[in-house]
Amino acid sequence: MFIDCSEKERFIFKKIAHAAEQLGTECYIIGGFVRDKILGRKTKDADIVCLGDGIELAHTVARQFTPSPKVSFFKNFGTAHIKADDLDIEFVGARKESYRYHSRKPEVMPGTLEDDQKRRDFTINALAVSLSKANYGALIDPFEGMKALEEKIIRTPLDPDQTFSDDPLRMMRAIRFASQLQFSIDENTWNGIKNNIERIHIISRERITDELNKILLSKKPSVGLDLLYQSGLLHVIFPQMIDLAGAEYKDGMGHKDNFYHTLQVVDNIAEHTDDLWLRWAALLHDIGKPATKRFEEGHGWTFHGHEVVGGRMVPKIFARFRLPMDHKMRFVKKLVELHLRPISLTKENITDSAIRRLLFDAGDDIDALMTLCKADITSKNKQKVKRYLDNFEMVRHRLESVEESDRIRNWQPPVTGEMIMEIFGLPPCKQVGDIKNAIREAILDGHIENNYDAAYDFMLTTARALNLEPVK
Ligand code: ATP
Ligand code: MG
Repeated sequence: MFIDCSEKERFIFKKIAHAAEQLGTECYIIGGFVRDKILGRKTKDADIVCLGDGIELAHTVARQFTPSPKVSFFKNFGTAHIKADDLDIEFVGARKESYRYHSRKPEVMPGTLEDDQKRRDFTINALAVSLSKANYGALIDPFEGMKALEEKIIRTPLDPDQTFSDDPLRMMRAIRFASQLQFSIDENTWNGIKNNIERIHIISRERITDELNKILLSKKPSVGLDLLYQSGLLHVIFPQMIDLAGAEYKDGMGHKDNFYHTLQVVDNIAEHTDDLWLRWAALLHDIGKPATKRFEEGHGWTFHGHEVVGGRMVPKIFARFRLPMDHKMRFVKKLVELHLRPISLTKENITDSAIRRLLFDAGDDIDALMTLCKADITSKNKQKVKRYLDNFEMVRHRLESVEESDRIRNWQPPVTGEMIMEIFGLPPCKQVGDIKNAIREAILDGHIENNYDAAYDFMLTTARALNLEPVK
């Protein structure tokens, strides 16, 4: 076989070949599976295309196994799926496609293998390996996909303008593959993308977001993000990011280009985490800067409050991209809001109380916050970077030692609101909240210890000042 498959995969492909022979048809492994095998990437799904009915082939393949795997199929699309071992296998009949202007859903009719390869988006995705008896295992590569893999090039098999106009999602896919595989985009293909930017409007937000997430999850997301920017796609799908770009100068004073700074921070964080949401936090950490930018005479550019404004933008951006509006959004929002806190601590004399407040506000997300903060240290000035990193390590140590002695991270109030209501015979009211807050502040400020007895005594004193006495 041209591609290097595991023993289990070879066993499965033999069964598929056998089933095709029984039906008197030809079939091929095609697309991503072939590409990823050649590149030595992990694969877990394989697409099989046959000359004929994909659903019938899937049923015939299923019967080769005992017990037979379940066949799920979609009559309308002529596709079928089975799971054999850990491999997800998709079957479809070879097809020809023609598109209408307002939709990315083509009209479909049966076709040859070559017709089917032509409808694929990129030459690296159009490679096929035969499962037919005559040339079992041979690579069928009419568009020099193998050469493109060697040269690390993304290129469309047909006219790029037509390819991207037919299905504009392919523009996002081209950039996503460039980012995942660290390939470059062929010049004609690139021009085809630039000519069709406005067509992205016919693609659903969810599909765009899927591709953006894959870019964010790639090893060096800045590759894809910069291509989105350079092509003009980012202007359409994510204008708030564009507002970050560029540096303004006044009275000889400039500020850094916050777009490229953000890309650097995303790359930095990608070295330390595969968590999509932490990567989103890196992408959005400075999103409030354009709205808060001011020039102060004699002082320079400031972005006061950009973390608060940025935090407020997070839910809107998540809604726009149809991202989940749940704890994941709240996590990103919280990180954007807090992203300056650890670093601002290094600028002053760090008190235990400031450390306790940070632990209290960040809670369980303190490690994620510190990862973001460290990634945020970017400067061309090496000495500056070193100074920030040293300070950062100092804050990290202080966080550890304060947490060890005070246990603030998952802080639960030693005296609860219910207890206060019962002790003073109060209904739920403002006074209960005031007493609770006073206890919390006293603990965070280090005026009293973080335990029940100290909190109880402090509660009595605070209540007395409000003319309250315990009812029993
Ligand atoms: P991945 O699985 O990493 O997303 P993939 O290339 O396998 O990458 P799939 O969406 O699984 O992508 O699609 C499988 C194959 O179907 C692709 O390799 C390609 O040949 C073809 N394909 C997918 N989407 C398109 C598209 N929008 N236009 C043309 N061909 C496509
Ligand atoms: Mg795939």
